[in-house]
Amino acid sequence: MRIVLLGAPGVGKGTVAALLSQKYGLPHISTGDIFKEEIRKASPMGLRVKAIVESGALVPDSVVNDLMKDRLSRTDVRSGFILDGYPRTVEQAKAMDSFATPELALNFSASRRTIIERLSGRRVCPKCGAIYHVSNNPPKKKGICNGCNEKLITRKDDEPAVISNRLDVYDRVTRPLIDYYRSRGLLAEINSDCPIGKIDRIIEQCVKALSRVGNNG
Ligand SMILES: [Zn+2]
Repeated sequence: MRIVLLGAPGVGKGTVAALLSQKYGLPHISTGDIFKEEIRKASPMGLRVKAIVESGALVPDSVVNDLMKDRLSRTDVRSGFILDGYPRTVEQAKAMDSFATPELALNFSASRRTIIERLSGRRVCPKCGAIYHVSNNPPKKKGICNGCNEKLITRKDDEPAVISNRLDVYDRVTRPLIDYYRSRGLLAEINSDCPIGKIDRIIEQCVKALSRVGNNG
Protein backbone atom coordinates (compact mmCIF):
# COMPACT_ATOMS: atom_id res chain seq x y z
CA MET A 1 0.00 0.00 0.00
CA ARG A 2 1.35 3.37 -0.99
CA ILE A 3 -0.15 5.87 1.42
CA VAL A 4 0.27 9.63 1.66
CA LEU A 5 -0.73 11.55 4.79
CA LEU A 6 -1.95 15.13 4.53
CA GLY A 7 -2.80 17.45 7.38
CA ALA A 8 -1.83 20.62 9.16
CA PRO A 9 0.78 20.76 11.92
CA GLY A 10 -0.72 19.53 15.21
CA VAL A 11 -3.33 17.38 13.56
CA GLY A 12 -1.73 14.22 14.98
CA LYS A 13 -0.56 12.59 11.80
CA GLY A 14 2.96 11.81 13.02
CA THR A 15 1.58 9.74 15.89
CA VAL A 16 -0.95 8.01 13.65
CA ALA A 17 1.73 7.32 11.01
CA ALA A 18 3.87 5.53 13.59
CA LEU A 19 0.93 3.35 14.69
CA LEU A 20 -0.15 2.52 11.13
CA SER A 21 3.44 1.73 10.22
CA GLN A 22 3.54 -0.87 13.01
CA LYS A 23 0.12 -2.29 12.22
CA TYR A 24 0.75 -2.77 8.50
CA GLY A 25 4.49 -3.36 8.58
CA LEU A 26 5.11 -0.47 6.20
CA PRO A 27 8.00 1.97 6.59
CA HIS A 28 7.02 5.38 7.95
CA ILE A 29 8.92 7.87 5.84
CA SER A 30 9.05 11.51 6.83
CA THR A 31 10.86 14.20 4.90
CA GLY A 32 12.16 15.66 8.14
CA ASP A 33 13.88 12.36 9.00
CA ILE A 34 15.35 12.07 5.51
CA PHE A 35 16.78 15.58 5.70
CA LYS A 36 18.32 14.80 9.08
CA GLU A 37 19.78 11.51 7.83
CA GLU A 38 21.36 13.11 4.74
CA ILE A 39 22.78 15.95 6.82
CA ARG A 40 24.20 13.45 9.31
CA LYS A 41 25.81 11.40 6.50
CA ALA A 42 27.19 14.66 5.04
CA SER A 43 26.24 13.41 1.56
CA PRO A 44 26.50 15.98 -1.26
CA MET A 45 22.71 16.32 -1.11
CA GLY A 46 22.86 16.54 2.67
CA LEU A 47 25.33 19.42 2.56
CA ARG A 48 23.10 21.21 0.08
CA VAL A 49 20.03 20.71 2.26
CA LYS A 50 21.95 21.85 5.33
CA ALA A 51 22.99 25.10 3.66
CA ILE A 52 19.42 25.78 2.53
CA VAL A 53 17.89 25.00 5.92
CA GLU A 54 20.47 27.09 7.76
CA SER A 55 19.73 30.05 5.50
CA GLY A 56 16.13 29.79 6.69
CA ALA A 57 14.82 29.10 3.18
CA LEU A 58 12.47 26.30 2.18
CA VAL A 59 14.08 23.31 0.53
CA PRO A 60 13.12 23.64 -3.16
CA ASP A 61 10.75 21.10 -4.76
CA SER A 62 13.47 19.77 -7.07
CA VAL A 63 15.73 18.83 -4.14
CA VAL A 64 12.92 17.25 -2.13
CA ASN A 65 11.75 15.32 -5.19
CA ASP A 66 15.25 13.94 -5.83
CA LEU A 67 15.60 12.84 -2.22
CA MET A 68 12.20 11.14 -2.21
CA LYS A 69 12.77 9.46 -5.56
CA ASP A 70 15.97 8.00 -4.15
CA ARG A 71 14.31 6.97 -0.89
CA LEU A 72 11.33 5.34 -2.62
CA SER A 73 13.57 3.26 -4.86
CA ARG A 74 15.00 1.28 -1.91
CA THR A 75 14.00 -2.33 -1.36
CA ASP A 76 12.21 -1.77 1.96
CA VAL A 77 9.35 0.07 0.24
CA ARG A 78 8.54 -2.74 -2.19
CA SER A 79 5.26 -3.53 -0.49
CA GLY A 80 4.47 0.10 0.20
CA PHE A 81 5.06 3.04 2.50
CA ILE A 82 3.43 5.66 4.66
CA LEU A 83 4.60 9.13 3.67
CA ASP A 84 4.47 11.98 6.13
CA GLY A 85 5.38 15.47 4.95
CA TYR A 86 5.57 14.66 1.25
CA PRO A 87 4.19 15.69 -1.15
CA ARG A 88 3.56 19.17 0.19
CA THR A 89 2.69 20.94 -3.03
CA VAL A 90 0.94 20.02 -6.28
CA GLU A 91 4.31 20.29 -8.03
CA GLN A 92 5.74 17.66 -5.68
CA ALA A 93 2.66 15.46 -6.14
CA LYS A 94 3.06 15.59 -9.92
CA ALA A 95 6.74 14.70 -9.63
CA MET A 96 5.91 11.85 -7.29
CA ASP A 97 3.39 10.44 -9.77
CA SER A 98 6.31 9.84 -12.14
CA PHE A 99 8.10 7.49 -9.73
CA ALA A 100 5.58 6.23 -7.13
CA THR A 101 1.87 6.91 -7.51
CA PRO A 102 0.05 6.86 -4.18
CA GLU A 103 -2.96 4.58 -3.82
CA LEU A 104 -4.57 6.65 -1.10
CA ALA A 105 -4.19 10.09 0.48
CA LEU A 106 -5.48 10.36 4.03
CA ASN A 107 -6.44 13.94 4.80
CA PHE A 108 -6.41 14.64 8.55
CA SER A 109 -8.38 17.57 9.83
CA ALA A 110 -9.15 19.03 13.22
CA SER A 111 -10.59 22.34 14.34
CA ARG A 112 -8.24 25.27 14.76
CA ARG A 113 -9.09 25.32 18.45
CA THR A 114 -8.03 21.69 18.93
CA ILE A 115 -4.79 22.21 17.02
CA ILE A 116 -3.87 25.34 18.94
CA GLU A 117 -4.64 23.55 22.20
CA ARG A 118 -2.40 20.64 21.25
CA LEU A 119 0.53 22.67 19.95
CA SER A 120 0.49 25.48 22.49
CA GLY A 121 0.69 22.91 25.30
CA ARG A 122 3.97 21.58 23.98
CA ARG A 123 7.09 22.17 26.10
CA VAL A 124 10.63 21.41 25.02
CA CYS A 125 13.82 20.85 26.99
CA PRO A 126 16.41 23.24 25.54
CA LYS A 127 19.21 20.94 26.68
CA CYS A 128 18.24 17.39 25.57
CA GLY A 129 15.38 18.16 23.16
CA ALA A 130 12.80 16.04 25.03
CA ILE A 131 9.23 17.05 24.19
CA TYR A 132 6.43 17.21 26.76
CA HIS A 133 2.82 18.35 26.77
CA VAL A 134 1.25 20.16 29.71
CA SER A 135 -1.79 17.86 29.81
CA ASN A 136 -0.99 14.94 27.48
CA ASN A 137 2.55 14.12 28.57
CA PRO A 138 3.53 16.28 31.54
CA PRO A 139 6.98 16.06 33.13
CA LYS A 140 7.20 14.63 36.66
CA LYS A 141 7.97 18.05 38.08
CA LYS A 142 5.99 20.90 36.51
CA GLY A 143 8.04 22.83 33.94
CA ILE A 144 11.21 20.78 34.53
CA CYS A 145 12.81 18.13 32.27
CA ASN A 146 12.71 14.61 33.75
CA GLY A 147 16.08 13.75 32.31
CA CYS A 148 18.25 16.77 32.98
CA ASN A 149 16.35 19.00 35.44
CA GLU A 150 16.48 21.83 32.91
CA LYS A 151 13.66 24.41 32.80
CA LEU A 152 11.32 23.62 29.87
CA ILE A 153 10.53 26.22 27.23
CA THR A 154 7.79 26.87 24.67
CA ARG A 155 9.21 26.96 21.14
CA LYS A 156 8.44 30.18 19.32
CA ASP A 157 6.70 28.05 16.68
CA ASP A 158 4.24 26.81 19.31
CA GLU A 159 3.02 30.20 20.50
CA PRO A 160 -0.68 30.64 19.60
CA ALA A 161 -0.16 33.63 17.26
CA VAL A 162 2.59 31.81 15.39
CA ILE A 163 0.54 28.60 15.22
CA SER A 164 -2.34 30.54 13.68
CA ASN A 165 0.01 31.89 11.04
CA ARG A 166 1.47 28.42 10.35
CA LEU A 167 -2.06 27.10 9.84
CA ASP A 168 -2.87 29.90 7.38
CA VAL A 169 0.24 29.10 5.38
CA TYR A 170 -0.59 25.40 5.44
CA ASP A 171 -4.13 26.01 4.17
CA ARG A 172 -2.92 28.20 1.35
CA VAL A 173 -0.21 25.83 0.16
CA THR A 174 -2.04 22.55 0.66
CA ARG A 175 -5.60 23.18 -0.41
CA PRO A 176 -4.69 22.66 -4.11
CA LEU A 177 -2.97 19.41 -3.15
CA ILE A 178 -6.15 18.13 -1.48
CA ASP A 179 -8.11 19.01 -4.61
CA TYR A 180 -5.47 17.26 -6.73
CA TYR A 181 -5.98 13.94 -4.91
CA ARG A 182 -9.74 14.37 -4.59
CA SER A 183 -10.10 14.82 -8.34
CA ARG A 184 -8.21 11.54 -8.81
CA GLY A 185 -10.51 9.71 -6.39
CA LEU A 186 -7.64 9.03 -3.99
CA LEU A 187 -8.69 11.18 -1.04
CA ALA A 188 -10.07 9.84 2.24
CA GLU A 189 -11.10 12.32 4.94
CA ILE A 190 -10.01 11.54 8.48
CA ASN A 191 -11.56 13.48 11.32
CA SER A 192 -8.83 13.81 13.93
CA ASP A 193 -10.69 16.34 16.05
CA CYS A 194 -10.92 14.10 19.09
CA PRO A 195 -9.64 14.43 22.63
CA ILE A 196 -6.07 13.48 23.43
CA GLY A 197 -5.94 9.81 24.38
CA LYS A 198 -8.75 8.87 21.96
CA ILE A 199 -6.40 8.10 19.12
CA ASP A 200 -8.08 4.73 18.47
CA ARG A 201 -11.01 6.69 16.98
CA ILE A 202 -8.64 8.10 14.38
CA ILE A 203 -6.95 4.76 13.73
CA GLU A 204 -10.36 3.11 13.12
CA GLN A 205 -11.14 5.60 10.37
CA CYS A 206 -7.73 5.01 8.77
CA VAL A 207 -8.09 1.24 8.85
CA LYS A 208 -11.49 1.52 7.19
CA ALA A 209 -10.10 3.76 4.45
CA LEU A 210 -7.08 1.49 3.95
CA SER A 211 -9.24 -1.63 3.63
CA ARG A 212 -10.51 -0.23 0.33
CA VAL A 213 -6.97 -0.18 -1.03
CA GLY A 214 -6.20 -3.64 0.39
CA ASN A 215 -9.23 -5.12 -1.38
CA ASN A 216 -8.04 -3.82 -4.71
CA GLY A 217 -4.87 -5.82 -4.34
ZN1 LIG B 1 16.24 17.57 29.13
